[in-house]
Amino acid sequence: MKTQDIVVYNDKKHNRLCLLRSDKIKCPYCFNEESKVMDKRDTEINATRRRRECLKCSKRFTTYERIEDLDLAIIKKDGRREAFEKEKIKKGILKACEKRPVSIEQIDVTVDKIEAEIRKLKGKEIQSSIIGEKVMNRLKKLDKVAYIRFASVYRSFADITDFQKELKELIKK
Ligand SMILES: [Zn+2]
Repeated sequence: MKTQDIVVYNDKKHNRLCLLRSDKIKCPYCFNEESKVMDKRDTEINATRRRRECLKCSKRFTTYERIEDLDLAIIKKDGRREAFEKEKIKKGILKACEKRPVSIEQIDVTVDKIEAEIRKLKGKEIQSSIIGEKVMNRLKKLDKVAYIRFASVYRSFADITDFQKELKELIKK
């Protein structure tokens, strides 16, 4: 699988943390390509964090190895394929949660969980309906009104009676 490394380093001159994306790991201070790994840890499901030390200047920096989003394609209902975009999931959830007591943090956590679930699936192509189901499952736990909003837009007219049944069940609870 194609991966992309992100080098994180402290830019002391401008007093800020910087990100460097590259296919080759280079020391951000002296650009030497050789470093040793001091510590390795999986952060999220799709990223590995490595603490490194440059073999030339001995400065330390951190790299994150991530799986590129482009590795995942979404197959839409009409058969068209498009690149997986986390932002699209977030947009849909944000809209469903409008004026609901759900924080941005909760939404971000939810989107991360959905992404992690999707990336755990085998294959590089995922039906959009699978993502829709996952969003609905998460929203159901997060906020019932948001769930109903999302589901009513998302679900097709054909299973509207099933949906109405489910609505009644939800209202009873
Ligand atoms: Zn160096």
